[in-house]
Amino acid sequence: MVIDENADVGGRIYAQTGLMQDSFNVKTRQKILQLFNGDGLCEIFHKKSQVIGIFSDNTLLITEKDGTAKIKYKSLIIAAGANEKTIPFPGWTLPGVMTSGCVQTMIKTQGISPEKAVLAGTGPLQLILADQILKTGGKVLALVETGSLKSWLKASRALFGHWRLAGQLTTCLINLARHKVPIYFNSLVSAAKGKDSVEEIEVSSIQGKCRRSIKTDILCIGYGFVPANELSLAAGARHEFKNGHWVPVRDDLMQTSVEGIFVAGDSARINGAIMAEYEGALSAVGAANYLGEISDHKAERQLQSLNKKLKKEKKLRVQFDRIMMLPDQVFELADNDTIICRCEDLSLRELKGIVIKSGPDINEFKRLSRAGMGLCQGRTCSTSLRQILSRSTEISPDKIGVLNPRPPFKPVSLGQLSKDYTDCIK
Ligand SMILES: Cc1cc2nc3c(=O)[nH]c(=O)nc-3n(C[C@H](O)[C@H](O)[C@H](O)COP(=O)(O)OP(=O)(O)OC[C@H]3O[C@@H](n4cnc5c(N)ncnc54)[C@H](O)[C@@H]3O)c2cc1C
Repeated sequence: MVIDENADVGGRIYAQTGLMQDSFNVKTRQKILQLFNGDGLCEIFHKKSQVIGIFSDNTLLITEKDGTAKIKYKSLIIAAGANEKTIPFPGWTLPGVMTSGCVQTMIKTQGISPEKAVLAGTGPLQLILADQILKTGGKVLALVETGSLKSWLKASRALFGHWRLAGQLTTCLINLARHKVPIYFNSLVSAAKGKDSVEEIEVSSIQGKCRRSIKTDILCIGYGFVPANELSLAAGARHEFKNGHWVPVRDDLMQTSVEGIFVAGDSARINGAIMAEYEGALSAVGAANYLGEISDHKAERQLQSLNKKLKKEKKLRVQFDRIMMLPDQVFELADNDTIICRCEDLSLRELKGIVIKSGPDINEFKRLSRAGMGLCQGRTCSTSLRQILSRSTEISPDKIGVLNPRPPFKPVSLGQLSKDYTDCIK
């Protein structure tokens, strides 16, 4: 059984069948559809259905039609993907400031492209988005990249052997050059200004020197991703702090510290789509082995072959992780009036006042401030909250703890909660 809040199979990349799909994505999507429809490997697909709770008696609480249902599992593979990392800075809540993923979704699903935009953040996805905007008739005024040109050149050497990605990024760069889009390395957007929406942005060097102002209506922010770890956390799996995120500890077959629960893909490590696919396969082998469906010997053979592929991808990932490691200055952009928690409308000044009472414990901080208790449940603000606590108390981010997820993980109406469809679930 597969449960997905999307209406379609394939996750973030392969479910979006609309515009801007390259041939590799289309082929992969066809393979996935074949698995679901043709080969009957997945017997039941609950689409538009969210997991909103996970309990110690191997039960999931899911939204189902206009109600909810409980599902018992023997083994569970969590592959919930990632959330975009949002970084507060003065003006980031102005209309027109959007995350890159949001802009990309608008382009892919509705063909709506910004007339003129500045892209700020880091990593290869910003390049891909710039290319997509240009190809759909939009204009890119500039690409503002926190990484240095040197680190990009170093990472490009690691692309040797990854020909599809190398080709894709080269095409993007050629297109950017053709449209004379400037790329500002070692830079960030330090402020967005405007009356009712963004009109102008300020570009600064990482060291804080203001370099230039650019007039624009759309600012696309893409500082990378944060693993969607609420399901593995709520399941009680042990987590560790790695590369600035709390991630589940797993064995070679992706099993967590809770027997029978596996985590694959971006919800465990931000490693991209190709590695997510291999990890998904590994976790399937792990779950089948756990359930006694395949022998240890067969599982070991599969592990060896998949590990070879994973190793090759990991080498490249390490280089991109270096580029995407955010400098401290990125977390120092917000001023006292900047809103940090958008759901509860809390500014940096208000949050700093609460740290004095809460101390460094992130859950005490959440209780006293309500930051992380709103609609997003911390998916948007948790990175910023950890940084604020760490800076204010001078305790390293890994010692701040992790926000305890509480069901319902996603917004659910009282009407849905009052209708129980458990008996209708096969
Ligand atoms: C905004 C965004 C844009 C991206 N753009 C690109 C790109 O252009 N090119 C590229 O190569 N990579 C891109 N990536 C990265 C790429 O999408 C991921 O690396 C890859 O999809 C990871 O696969 P996954 O299976 O781990 O997660 P995903 O593909 O994200 O799949 C996770 C699935 O879990 C579902 N889900 C999550 N929580 C729940 C829940 N509680 N209940 C039910 N279902 C749930 C989601 O609906 C989704 O279908 C992007 C990522 C994001 C977040």
